[in-house]
Amino acid sequence: MISLFTIIRRNPRQTGLQPGQVALTFDDGPNLEANVTPDLLDVLHQHSVKAGFCLVGQQIRRHPDVVRRMNQSGHLLINHTQSHHHPIRQNVATLLDEIEACDREIGAALGIDGYRSDYFRAPFGIVTFAVRRAVRRLRLKHVLLSHYGWDTRVGPHHCESVVDLLIDNAKRNNGGMYVLHDGSLCPPKVHEENWNHSTENRSWVPEAISRVISELEKHGLQFVLPGTIGTPRDARLRAAA
Ligand SMILES: [Zn+2]
Repeated sequence: MISLFTIIRRNPRQTGLQPGQVALTFDDGPNLEANVTPDLLDVLHQHSVKAGFCLVGQQIRRHPDVVRRMNQSGHLLINHTQSHHHPIRQNVATLLDEIEACDREIGAALGIDGYRSDYFRAPFGIVTFAVRRAVRRLRLKHVLLSHYGWDTRVGPHHCESVVDLLIDNAKRNNGGMYVLHDGSLCPPKVHEENWNHSTENRSWVPEAISRVISELEKHGLQFVLPGTIGTPRDARLRAAA
């Protein structure tokens, strides 16, 4: 088995980014609890920034209209498997099933028969031998990261530290490829008393991203679509705005 850290390249240049470029990715959505993903799309639109969305098939089935909106807005759709099972318990055949099932959900949402993803992120970022074989078989490209901030361990009350770390990292490294989670893998507990402290409460993500974009643009950094090594795509569409 190969660990989580195989998708992390501490040097942002090894994720395909040029100096001064930042790429944002969002995992495990779409999520309509607290309207997180639509609010996030609004924030990205306001800043004219394009991002990558690592989509879980089961979530796509619940909110296909949100996936259509992502696609129409020029964001990158990334296959994150149908059920987000831990790769360690999967073999090549079950992984292929999981990836292809997610593609069918994306295709159904977009109205495209036989849709095939170009990009993939393994659940939990864990790249096992079986993941590598499945990805090679389907000619997918891994979407890498240059920093992992463990944002799933914080709720609204502790998100500032994670966001500060991300901003500091991007300034220090003159860019980077980052992830925050708009989705949650656990069933929502929105009516629970401690919801405001819950790590499943992702409602802080849109505002946090607005701050990330504002501060890093002020610092002179440019936001681009996450691509793979050597092929970052320009995410700025100011001319079209
Ligand atoms: Zn995930």
